[in-house]
Amino acid sequence: MPTHEVFNQPPPLTGYDVADDAAMLSALRREGAGWAQDAVHELGRLAGSAQAQEQGRQANENPPELRTHDRFGNRVDEVEFHPAWHELMTVAVRHGLHAAPWRDSRPGAHVARAAGFYVWGTADAGHCCPISMTYAIVPALRLAPGLAGRFEPLLAAPEYDFGLRPPETKRGLLAGMSMTEKQGGSDVRANTTRAVAVEGDGGSYLLTGHKWFTSAPMGDLFLVLAQAPGGLSCFLLPRVRPDGTLNGMRLQRLKDKLGNRSNASAEVEYDEALAWLVGEEGRGVRTIIEMVNVTRLDCVLGTATGMRAGVTMAAHHAAHRTAFGRKLADQPLMAGVLADLAIESEATTMAAFRLAGATDRAVRGDEQEAAFRRLALAATKYWVCKRAPAHAAEALECLGGNGYVEESGMPRLYREAPLASIWEGSGNVAALDALRALTRQPESAEAFFAELDQAAGADSRLDQAVLRLRKELSDPSEARARHLAEAMALALQGALLVRYGDPAVADAFTASRLADGGGSSGSSGWGRAFGTLPAGADTAAIVRRATPMVPAG
Ligand SMILES: Cc1cc2nc3c(=O)[nH]c(=O)nc-3n(C[C@H](O)[C@H](O)[C@H](O)COP(=O)(O)OP(=O)(O)OC[C@H]3O[C@@H](n4cnc5c(N)ncnc54)[C@H](O)[C@@H]3O)c2cc1C
Repeated sequence: MPTHEVFNQPPPLTGYDVADDAAMLSALRREGAGWAQDAVHELGRLAGSAQAQEQGRQANENPPELRTHDRFGNRVDEVEFHPAWHELMTVAVRHGLHAAPWRDSRPGAHVARAAGFYVWGTADAGHCCPISMTYAIVPALRLAPGLAGRFEPLLAAPEYDFGLRPPETKRGLLAGMSMTEKQGGSDVRANTTRAVAVEGDGGSYLLTGHKWFTSAPMGDLFLVLAQAPGGLSCFLLPRVRPDGTLNGMRLQRLKDKLGNRSNASAEVEYDEALAWLVGEEGRGVRTIIEMVNVTRLDCVLGTATGMRAGVTMAAHHAAHRTAFGRKLADQPLMAGVLADLAIESEATTMAAFRLAGATDRAVRGDEQEAAFRRLALAATKYWVCKRAPAHAAEALECLGGNGYVEESGMPRLYREAPLASIWEGSGNVAALDALRALTRQPESAEAFFAELDQAAGADSRLDQAVLRLRKELSDPSEARARHLAEAMALALQGALLVRYGDPAVADAFTASRLADGGGSSGSSGWGRAFGTLPAGADTAAIVRRATPMVPAG
């Protein structure tokens, strides 16, 4: 005898195209990568497949394990991953989401890669970490042309070749970064790892010291900061030396992390590890910042991915679940929550792709775009990453109790959400960096306001917000850095939405986030929680944009 029937549960959210995302697709075309649309859809269908979702689940539920020694007692310093991890990595590398765009001369190559990264990240955020670091290492490595000549082609190769072997014997390479020490992560100048030059071997050093966080430790190459005689310097360190012996990079422990569990993050001791100088001695921060600037772009893109995934799952659930005689999505208060989440997600996607476009053009020598990116990236990273945990929590709640249960996928999204705000410049550090760009690099401020000016006259609430922002900049004190970064990021999101966004989304964004100062303090009525949009927002139209098309039965 059946005890009960299952009904009023949504169909599985599988077999859909993650790239069926109007805000992302229009940004892709606008930023010069319309040519990549078919490839992005292909990856989108893959990301939305039951197979990719299962790989993401397995990779997270079977986290990597460290093997420090073999059975005879020899150090091996290997990390073992579940096969699902390798499958995810293979797809990411085959689709060029790692360093491939650096070897692609087509304008828009970095935007195409951003779109791939954005859709494929839905399958699993953890493996995006080594993908992102491999992408980001190239601009820093180019400060050492000899090393770039040796390794860049292998970093860009579409081959995932796992295992500890000398880098130049592998079909493809992955990279990481090793900066943070126990006594200082933001303040890397406090690093104590020492670098001693190898006599008679120009450019080679031996590094000795510890690192408190080094993610993706099974990578082949790492940018490491260490104190050389000339001051803090940046080095390229291979996991395996060119002669085939294991380099002096000992993995001590893997971190037991809140989220990001598919990925390994290690504590590392360097024991006379061979490394090669990148850039000049004493200019380590200047050098590694070239890498950090690119990983910060991925923090914004990855946050956009998480928000889109959250609101998609929430809208899907609400489209199918009935309570009190009506679909949840049709209940005015739920429609308001979903619309508010969708607005936040679209605004983040628009900003992320504008920054990817700026990166693409900056790489090709556009100085105005480089100046714009400098300030806009710091402010946007601060703000969107701050929004992510609240966004994930609210999206989770849309599923009710199901959202709190692991197999819904929501807990994984929720645990991942705070990470991008900590990594590559924690909130305060990102906000202070935006302030630094604003006050010390006038060309950045000019380029940023030139961007806002392009939207002038289109929406009076945005115009007022920009005016207020200009006034507030008269007091650029450290204590107000968060406030200013938030205001800059919101103005940028508003300007992009007003110029290019869906009219219903743009109108609701400016009415809620920008009118009268936004927030509860303004008369707009937008509250501190999601789901408090001012009256008049076209919530049904906005929610429709976030509701996935899932094939019937
Ligand atoms: C999952 C994960 C993976 C990571 N992977 C890597 C990796 O691969 N390589 C690597 O090198 N590091 C990695 N990190 C480390 C990460 O980059 C650092 O944790 C981060 O930079 C912050 O440094 P910290 O932990 O030393 O904190 P601290 O620098 O001590 O900062 C603590 C708090 O103080 C704030 N703060 C710092 N300076 C100021 C200031 N001047 N004014 C006001 N507030 C301030 C910060 O915003 C933060 O909130 C990883 C971290 C995590 C969580």
